[in-house]
Amino acid sequence: MENETVTRNFIEQIIDRDIAEGHCETVCTRFPPEPNGYLHIGHAKSILLNYGLAQEYGGKFNMRFDDTNPTKEKEEFVESIKADIEWFGADWEDRLYFASDYFGKMYEAAVKLIKKGKAYVCDLTPEEIREYRGTLTEPGKNSPYRDRSVEENLQLFENMKNGLYEDGEKVLRAKIDMASPNINMRDPIIYRVAHMSHHRTGDAWCIYPMYDFAHPLEDAFEGVTHSICTLEFEDHRPLYDWVVREMGFEHPPKQIEFAKLYLTNVVTGKRYIKKLVEEDIVDGWDDPRLVSIAALRRRGFTPSSIKKFVELCGVSKSQSSVDYAMLEYCIREDLKMTAPRVMAVLDPVKLVIDNYPEGQTEELEIDNNMENPEMGKRLVPFSRELYVEREDFMVEPPKKYRRLYPGNEVRLMNAYFVTCTGYETDANGRVTVVHCTYDPESRGGNSPDGRKVRGTIHWADAATAICAEVRLYENIIDEEKGVYNADGSLNLNPNSLTVLKNCYVEPSLSGAEKYDRFQFVRNGFFCVDARDSVEDHLVFNRIVSLKSSYRIPVQQ
Ligand code: ATP
Ligand code: MG
Repeated sequence: MENETVTRNFIEQIIDRDIAEGHCETVCTRFPPEPNGYLHIGHAKSILLNYGLAQEYGGKFNMRFDDTNPTKEKEEFVESIKADIEWFGADWEDRLYFASDYFGKMYEAAVKLIKKGKAYVCDLTPEEIREYRGTLTEPGKNSPYRDRSVEENLQLFENMKNGLYEDGEKVLRAKIDMASPNINMRDPIIYRVAHMSHHRTGDAWCIYPMYDFAHPLEDAFEGVTHSICTLEFEDHRPLYDWVVREMGFEHPPKQIEFAKLYLTNVVTGKRYIKKLVEEDIVDGWDDPRLVSIAALRRRGFTPSSIKKFVELCGVSKSQSSVDYAMLEYCIREDLKMTAPRVMAVLDPVKLVIDNYPEGQTEELEIDNNMENPEMGKRLVPFSRELYVEREDFMVEPPKKYRRLYPGNEVRLMNAYFVTCTGYETDANGRVTVVHCTYDPESRGGNSPDGRKVRGTIHWADAATAICAEVRLYENIIDEEKGVYNADGSLNLNPNSLTVLKNCYVEPSLSGAEKYDRFQFVRNGFFCVDARDSVEDHLVFNRIVSLKSSYRIPVQQ
């Protein structure tokens, strides 16, 4: 078609070309997290990108734990990562791999390099290795151990494996070029001695491969065609290519780098999130103030809202930061038509309708979502005593205040017109009860005679409402204002969590289950907390408020 413009991102363009030129027939991608923490929103981008490409090309998506560094890795993280990926529906089928399963093959690969004269055992201390490496402007110097014979290297490497040396005493290095302008190519270390138990292989190994050696091998062993990673690995690509070339793989994988996803003002890095968790500043890795995937899920975000967000972000090579408001926009869009709209009073004050018959209750039929009639209707009880929001009443209102104040008439949403007649206070002058009268002719909130009211407020029937806890959130650390204070402590927002224990929600929410999502009219979108909510104590997290000035940026 002549006028059809199909925008393919740069990765798709590379893959299209590789297929056209016969470099590969199908596509195999992978997601390779290190199990040293929980995944965050940035990882979601990588998961969805890799899985999406595999789907688009009818190829395969592998799940692989890059567990080559036993110091920080834990089984807890393996399980959480699997759960997060499954939540997105990214299906690895039967291809769940662990880099540690390849330790034997990696060892053989290293032996093969030694036999080719492309690797040697080096006895320099870590400090000496650094000195010999040179700088960005000066070439490095050859290690005095660089010309050891193949036989000696084979023996020493085997000794390393057999535990004859202390940590740091010897390393295996690739023999490449100490004068290379790329420091990564100056005889990088590919194996080190580390007497450490591994969470999967136990004490079977006391030598562990370095990332730059292990990663290309893992990809190649699995038949990965396109190894997609983030930009900081761009300078490592020559080493990646060197490893797969020296090993002589028939179908070498290709590394492609893209820019990391960053959220403006929000702490995304695993390192910072870990610090907040370890210092007990937050309530675990899934604290709803964080942007770990577990936290976003608990807060109430849907997988589809995050997918939408990642799509809007696009894939590129240039580093940029995306506004958190865009993520909020995506969840609002997702829930707008699907979440039931119910009434919940977060900061209650009693409203008594003095002319409503005592002991009477009626049931009002209310749309579950007036923008989506398919969601049907429900019955909501109404009687003489209600709760309304404290901020919906003022004794002395400012100009333009359209809600309750003595003498003013407002609409109780979906119910009746009421006119405020007075109020009571406690000894401190705090309002305890607001009084009003209602117009029985205005049932359903409709004007009986064309008279207009300018304010509409929501309410909860005092006799039947359920008392619930509601948690409101703000950004925990504003990165723009600085993650750390001058004294090195974290620069925390003291208002990041507000707990409201005395909220009233309509009785239709009595059976609400964890992860159920609602719009509380005028107050935002809320989700039943998966950890703390129980049948007789409902806890809701505010996912996002209703209003935003956010508009999706026009795509260039
Ligand atoms: P962090 O820097 O937050 O600790 P990481 O890169 O160390 O993350 P890994 O477990 O090594 O975490 O990452 C797994 C995969 O996710 C890698 O391919 C990595 O490039 C990708 N990834 C990590 N952070 C982001 C991000 N912010 N945006 C996109 N992809 C990311
Ligand atoms: Mg990492």
